[in-house]
Amino acid sequence: MKIDILTIFPEMFKGPLTCSLLAKARDKKILKISCTDIRSFTKDKHNKVDDRPFGGGPGMVMKPEPIYEALKSVGVKKRNNLYKNPLKKPLVIYMSPQGKTLNTNTVKKIAQHEHLVLLCGHYEGIDERVMQWVDKEISIGDYVLTGGEIPAMVLIDSVARMLPEVVQDKLSVQQDSFYNGLLDYPHYTRPAEFKKMKVPKVLLSGNHLEIEKWRKEQALERTKKRRPDLLKK
Ligand code: SAM
Repeated sequence: MKIDILTIFPEMFKGPLTCSLLAKARDKKILKISCTDIRSFTKDKHNKVDDRPFGGGPGMVMKPEPIYEALKSVGVKKRNNLYKNPLKKPLVIYMSPQGKTLNTNTVKKIAQHEHLVLLCGHYEGIDERVMQWVDKEISIGDYVLTGGEIPAMVLIDSVARMLPEVVQDKLSVQQDSFYNGLLDYPHYTRPAEFKKMKVPKVLLSGNHLEIEKWRKEQALERTKKRRPDLLKK
């Protein structure tokens, strides 16, 4: 999968994209991630990416021209049907608190695409006219952050876990919370006793059927207690 990030703060991505599973996925060429600095497409001498809002009011708005040029530079064309297979078309996602809240189902769907273009806003957001190049608006929750970079990192991380070979053991992803509509079961590791607290006996029994049954019950019980809304769905 190829991911292009359009941002005015490319340096923010250095840490998260160069550690852990994301770094490995990039090394193995499963993920190709590039940052494009929207500011490099400004034409004025102050490299202005924002301006005052028409109609007045607080804050600044990201100007449309540099964003448009940045989109073009990563291969985004007008929203016509140039692609027979829609999964091959660059999927342009604007990270926005007004978008659909990210969940596992959306992550799974996004992970099927070959090329993502993530647009990170700042200030009051982007000029609305840019929206005609945007396919999806994604929010990471009902709160407002200063910019779209952290939401873009959240999206990249969650999508990367769904790609084959990023997480070694496929089962690990499939047993995670939300994947099958339930929360995950509790986990324990060595030592078998810690500060007088013992690991549940069944986990030491070696009886795989019993262990599986116990885990299913625990996952169901947790979901009932913590997220009954998931069971209703
Ligand atoms: N005025 C906008 C509004 O109320 O909808 C908020 C703008 S916010 C300060 C600046 C940028 O941060 C947005 O353009 C978006 O890219 C990003 N952002 C903020 N909160 C977000 C969230 N919950 N999910 C995704 N992106 C978010």
